[in-house]
Amino acid sequence: MQKVREISKKICMLGSFGAGKTSLVRRFVYNKFEEKYLSTIGVQLSQKSVTVSGEGLVHGEERLKLILWDLAHIEKFDKVIKNYFRGSHGAIVVLDLTRRQTFDEMDVFLKPFAEMNPASKIVFIGNKSDLVKPTEEDRERFLQLSESYKTFYTFTSAKTGENVEQMFLKLSALLIKAD
Ligand code: GDP
Repeated sequence: MQKVREISKKICMLGSFGAGKTSLVRRFVYNKFEEKYLSTIGVQLSQKSVTVSGEGLVHGEERLKLILWDLAHIEKFDKVIKNYFRGSHGAIVVLDLTRRQTFDEMDVFLKPFAEMNPASKIVFIGNKSDLVKPTEEDRERFLQLSESYKTFYTFTSAKTGENVEQMFLKLSALLIKAD
């Protein structure tokens, strides 16, 4: 029997301290959520394989192994961060809908990440949608961001699981198209 090939993709979870990066990974990989806050030190790696189906794919479907790099809050772009970013295929920028200042904090990592990985897919997430509903202004801001990076945005809740799996699958489909 022919072995279905599996392509590995490196995805960085980017965003402010407490925005929900670790929780989104935990929800997606283990289908679990924790209220208590364990801050990530350095980087934590997780992986999950997904199957993406669609027209134009060689076997009608494709297997991807997502290697998720959950990075601690980035305060400045330095050599260490540069090494973490290197060779990434995508990034999930996690903003906290309950703390608008997390929107302004993304400048530290967004441009350096995009410059280092120009062909990567960067998607924008407004997390904690179970706590607050996104405003019209939020939608406008996310739309502009996703349009300027030619990707997509969505609002998620790592707590309830709303849109979490869909978001990872949609990103996977983008990564396959980019190949
Ligand atoms: P990180 O620093 O970005 O990795 O953030 P964490 O994933 O550790 O989450 C920070 C805190 O927010 C924790 O107490 C989580 O339980 C909580 N949290 C994360 N995502 C959500 C969410 O979607 N809804 C709610 N209500 N709380 C969340």
